[in-house]
Amino acid sequence: VSSLDIQKIREQFPVLNQEVNGKPLVYFDNAASSQTAKRVVDSLIQFYEKDHANIHRGIHTLAERSTKGFEATRERVHQFINSAEADEIVFTKGTTESINLVAQSWGSKFLNAGDEILISQLEHHSNIVPWQMAAERTGAVIRVIPINDKGEILMDEYKKLLNSKTKLVAINYISNSLGTINPVKEMIAAAQEVNATTLIDAAQAAPHIKIDVQELNCDFLALSSHKMYGPTGVGVLYGRRDVLESMPPYQGGGEMIKDVSFSGTTYNDIPYKFEAGTPNIGEVIAFKYAMDFIDELGHENIQAYEHELLEYANSKLATIPGFRPIGTSDKKASVISFLIENVHQYDLGQFLDVKGIAVRTGHHCTQPLMDFLKIDGTVRASFAVYNTKEEIDVFCDALENIVKKFS
Ligand code: PMP
Repeated sequence: VSSLDIQKIREQFPVLNQEVNGKPLVYFDNAASSQTAKRVVDSLIQFYEKDHANIHRGIHTLAERSTKGFEATRERVHQFINSAEADEIVFTKGTTESINLVAQSWGSKFLNAGDEILISQLEHHSNIVPWQMAAERTGAVIRVIPINDKGEILMDEYKKLLNSKTKLVAINYISNSLGTINPVKEMIAAAQEVNATTLIDAAQAAPHIKIDVQELNCDFLALSSHKMYGPTGVGVLYGRRDVLESMPPYQGGGEMIKDVSFSGTTYNDIPYKFEAGTPNIGEVIAFKYAMDFIDELGHENIQAYEHELLEYANSKLATIPGFRPIGTSDKKASVISFLIENVHQYDLGQFLDVKGIAVRTGHHCTQPLMDFLKIDGTVRASFAVYNTKEEIDVFCDALENIVKKFS
């Protein structure tokens, strides 16, 4: 039984306390975006009501306040993922932008015709399309790491794909569609044997698993605040100092320069070199409180409780006639993808919404994975630390009802 006081946790998420379509909201779409902790919202209000100013440039008091808050979050991310230095933390607007930054900047310098980029069959479109664009520009080739029917990476096949032409291995830590937790540490170690650069898409991992970039020993790692009880519009790209320093700038503009003249421009040091223009200042500042929230609970406690929810839901769902789980690895985060025989996934999603239950339907931005599984999409219920077994009961009762209606 969990050591967390879930009712106390729920009090920190006022959004959960509402009715949708006349029923208490059951929010099971956390893999798409988690709800925002109250202290995060309070920080946003504080910023916009009291502290709003642009950062790094001004010498006035408000500019100093917002600069200090912004840089404090960089320090907080540095602790949160245990990077060697705070300068290795680049703010972006999300995982998507973090990966695009690497694909454009690192890719333009280090990818050549015939080089191989390894990604897995499980990837989100944001860890596929930027590499396809980079491959088109450079003549590099994408190779796909195969998976089994449970949604697990085939490690032997992965190791066979690694060779002297492998320049990059880019994989997700946790699959957003199936919840599979991938053996990224072992994959990174294998990639290093052929001197490949490694990028971990940790968008789904960051809210659930303790991330230690030095222990993982990856070159890059990307995450999104909005999946971690934080605000939208904020992401992180972690890059090891030597790797970031070897890369050309991503976008040009203010902040990323040292000196500009018409005869030439010199670029700022990392991380500022990669942060052109005014960022989402208030949101970055507020993101710090989301990491505080997670660390106060502790990743181990969060993972244990979410696993309890997963097991509870799995055992109840298994009794529903026609229930077909998609992705059945025993190494999973709290994501359940499924179909129900003879009921279309969109009908399921709509019926659940009528009951106040929010789930995701469709391909979840993983069309190649859906093609592999020979399905159009799934219904996905994804649990966060504020969800309860009572909510899972409501969800299962609703599903049983719809199955009865359709049979
Ligand atoms: N990768 C994974 C595994 C994801 O789940 C997501 C978000 N669905 C992304 C990347 C993209 O993140 P964002 O939309 O925050 O840029």
